[in-house]
Amino acid sequence: MDRVNLDGKPIQPISICMIGGGGFIGSHLCEKLMSETSHKAIVVDVSSDKIKNLLDKSLPWANRIEFHQMNIKNDSRLETLVKAADLTINLAAICTPADYNTRPLDTIFSNFVDAIPVIKFCTENKKRLIHFSTCEVFGKTIGSFLPEEYRKDPKYYMLTEDVTPCIFGPVEKQRWSYACAKQMTDRLIYAEYAENGLKFTIVRPYNWIGPRMDFIPGVDGPSDGVPRVLACFSNNLLRGEPLKLVDGGQSKRTVLYIKDAIEAVLLMIDNPDRANGHIFNVGNPDNEVSVKELAELMIKVYAKVADIPASSLSTLNVRSEDFYGKGYDDSDRRIPDMTIITRQLGWKPKTSLDDLLDSTLRYQHQTYSHAIKKELSKAST
Ligand code: NAD
Ligand code: UDP
Repeated sequence: MDRVNLDGKPIQPISICMIGGGGFIGSHLCEKLMSETSHKAIVVDVSSDKIKNLLDKSLPWANRIEFHQMNIKNDSRLETLVKAADLTINLAAICTPADYNTRPLDTIFSNFVDAIPVIKFCTENKKRLIHFSTCEVFGKTIGSFLPEEYRKDPKYYMLTEDVTPCIFGPVEKQRWSYACAKQMTDRLIYAEYAENGLKFTIVRPYNWIGPRMDFIPGVDGPSDGVPRVLACFSNNLLRGEPLKLVDGGQSKRTVLYIKDAIEAVLLMIDNPDRANGHIFNVGNPDNEVSVKELAELMIKVYAKVADIPASSLSTLNVRSEDFYGKGYDDSDRRIPDMTIITRQLGWKPKTSLDDLLDSTLRYQHQTYSHAIKKELSKAST
């Protein structure tokens, strides 16, 4: 049966150039596009590891997905691929906080400079662009600078796309290199829209998590690598080490399950008239936790999944400078205002924190526990 969009019109299959489509979000989007739509995916990435199960030539969608191994920094084939597609989705980025203060040049080039040709090709060839920004462009909340009694008022902590100011730390705090580069890219896209009519949608993800996020150090990534918090804590749990709470884990995040998030992205793809010209927060305001609470919940859920006593798992406070190095800083709180996405696309998140941690940690345990047990027993002999 033909799929219809939110206005009841049949959805025509389109061709999508997905840059950075081999990563965490891209792998889930490819899976959704192949299993539930007739759209074609032209995937560009330096690696296809996370989508290799979708690229098998015997699969029913084999003629609807192609992979181009490419570093977009220096590959002239990119413009041809953007031209060949109806829509470009740009996911490519360095987006792990451990890199922002230790590799600020790579971070700024990846999140700003490398996005410039993508935007230019879309404008010049009159192609639609869905660009992945971040909730981190808001930086710190206004409330974090105010006395405690003001912080309860949503106007001092709620992040609204077209209202809330962006508050970063000083240049010496290189943590903000990522947020600042992303903000410049958002501004460039908006300027191309305002002056040259670029058809754009900007997505601001709020801590999307789920299977295939980042890597487990020493198994499918470097042993000294520091991924995002889900993978850091998963690694600690799998190895039976204490979960490290940076500066006591007082910062707060709202967590969204990747499968809910992908529903929102598909609505943007299928409803250009409702999505073009908009910046969308995509998060789950009901799933707010401090990092300390997240660690405690992950211990509880993992103990059940791995059938081990929760008392064998613990947390440990660490200083941010020791964990991330000099120049680290943090966002205190990230609550998305959902007004615009609800009004334009009628999207709402569904999955609770308990449920999303249960399915994600089951995946982590099934995927990695055997390799880690082998590694640990080798090290002890
Ligand atoms: P990811 O690291 O898993 O995916 C990014 C992909 O881009 C990787 O596969 C990487 O190989 C590819 N890439 C990077 N530079 C490239 C280059 N020069 N050429 C070709 N490929 C390149 O990250 P993700 O979580 O899937 O995030 C995707 C986008 O969403 C990023 O722009 C990120 O900033 C944004 N974002 C994600 C979250 C989240 O919660 N996951 C939060 C905020 C923002
Ligand atoms: N964090 C932590 N322990 C870790 C990894 C991260 O306490 O092992 C904290 C980090 O300082 C931040 C939060 O967890 O406050 C979320 O980190 P993440 O890597 O997911 O990136 P962010 O949400 O800051 O973009």
